[in-house]
Amino acid sequence: MNYDLLGIGTGPFNLSLLAMLKKTSLRYHFKEMKNNISWHSEIVFSDSLMQTSCFKDLTTSIDPTSEFTFFNYLVSEGLFYTFMNTGRTVVNRREYELYLQWAANKLSENIELNSEVVSIKAHDQYFEIYTQSADGIKIDQAKNLCIGTGPISRIPNFAKNLISPTLFHAKSNYLKGNIFENKNVVIIGGGQTGLEIFRNALHGNWGRFQSIKLLSSRPNLQPLDESPFTNEYFTPQYVNCFYKLDQLEKDHYTSAQKLASDGNTPKYLEFLYNDLYQLKHISNDERIIEIMPNRKVYRIEKESTHYTVQYFNQFTKKEEKLNADIIVLCTGFETKAPEFLKELLPHLALDDQERFIVNQDFSLKLNQGNQQGKIFVQNFSRHGHGISEPQTSLMPWRSATIINSLLGHEFYKTNLEKSNFINFCRD
Ligand SMILES: Cc1cc2nc3c(=O)[nH]c(=O)nc-3n(C[C@H](O)[C@H](O)[C@H](O)COP(=O)(O)OP(=O)(O)OC[C@H]3O[C@@H](n4cnc5c(N)ncnc54)[C@H](O)[C@@H]3O)c2cc1C
Repeated sequence: MNYDLLGIGTGPFNLSLLAMLKKTSLRYHFKEMKNNISWHSEIVFSDSLMQTSCFKDLTTSIDPTSEFTFFNYLVSEGLFYTFMNTGRTVVNRREYELYLQWAANKLSENIELNSEVVSIKAHDQYFEIYTQSADGIKIDQAKNLCIGTGPISRIPNFAKNLISPTLFHAKSNYLKGNIFENKNVVIIGGGQTGLEIFRNALHGNWGRFQSIKLLSSRPNLQPLDESPFTNEYFTPQYVNCFYKLDQLEKDHYTSAQKLASDGNTPKYLEFLYNDLYQLKHISNDERIIEIMPNRKVYRIEKESTHYTVQYFNQFTKKEEKLNADIIVLCTGFETKAPEFLKELLPHLALDDQERFIVNQDFSLKLNQGNQQGKIFVQNFSRHGHGISEPQTSLMPWRSATIINSLLGHEFYKTNLEKSNFINFCRD
């Protein structure tokens, strides 16, 4: 057996696990298909702020004495005093990426870059992991796995056959150069990414557009709810309560709590509003610049060099359409079982919507009679563990839960926190 644990992917979540494994005696190794550590770098702009505090780093909430905290990064890089003088606890995404790269560099002996896991076979006592790299296929063996391969871009059905340099998902290499110059641009999606592309376009990134319209199915640009009681959803105590609900209730709550995890950064809305005021009323910019909420797009047709976008106005209850030269899909991300799990799928328990059933310790529920080790997943259980699952808020706690489960005892204390003010499920 090569390893006790093989991790797949080194986004922030598996990096947190790696950082916290450092204090254990487990044998572990992580594979990353990219040739570097980067964090959604295609959609990081100079004004892209984190939606979470820098205290919510790889380890602090469980192990603040770890060498991988954001504060150790600041001190090690000689940034402590100047950072404190900025008065911020919310950093921009590029800064967070630099922090992740610094941590990954310290963990590099356990990270294999340029290594894409392509398939996995299950044996009685271990997994066999096949990795594609420049040197060909490599085979490793591990008792347990942790999948941290992240979400993938969501392309709506109406756009699936149209992807091209003039119609693309925001997270793509097409978003560069002067592609908006003299063009009628349409952004579909009013989440944070849609807004960031809209605002950066107003600032002249990607050239001087002719017109720009942002279509969103949401009823307005809606702020992230960061109020203190709502933030109690992002605590271990809440997740433990949520976990006990039945699936129908869980689905109801994850959808009802959307704005607690998926709203627009309130400060960013203020910046954008001020930019629009400046552009329209001070600079008297006469180009068409519109934010159009309540519009549900259902069809796009390509006609020679332009597109016709058809949508339903949920406010007026009328069908509408417009023309576009460039369309940017800011339609979010989705979680799907990775291809490399294909052979293992018969061993995995799925719910009636084909989603993984994830145990409380973040391991996949396996069908009865299976003798292998555990397959842990990070960021695959929003439906099971709640809206904190795709966020950085609880990543050290989740990493600690996984490590405790691997070791079979409480190596990291996971319930030191005093009671929440909201009593969700205590007797
Ligand atoms: C634009 C954006 C901004 C966000 N901002 C915030 C924020 O401010 N605060 C917050 O709490 N959350 C934020 N999130 C949500 C969340 O923190 C991120 O999505 C985070 O990147 C999730 O981490 P991850 O480790 O699950 O996945 P990822 O970061 O996507 O990393 C997955 C890694 O796995 C690798 N991989 C995939 N398949 C394979 C394979 N077969 N073999 C080997 N490697 C593989 C990929 O190359 C990648 O490096 C944001 C998300 C996005 C998209």
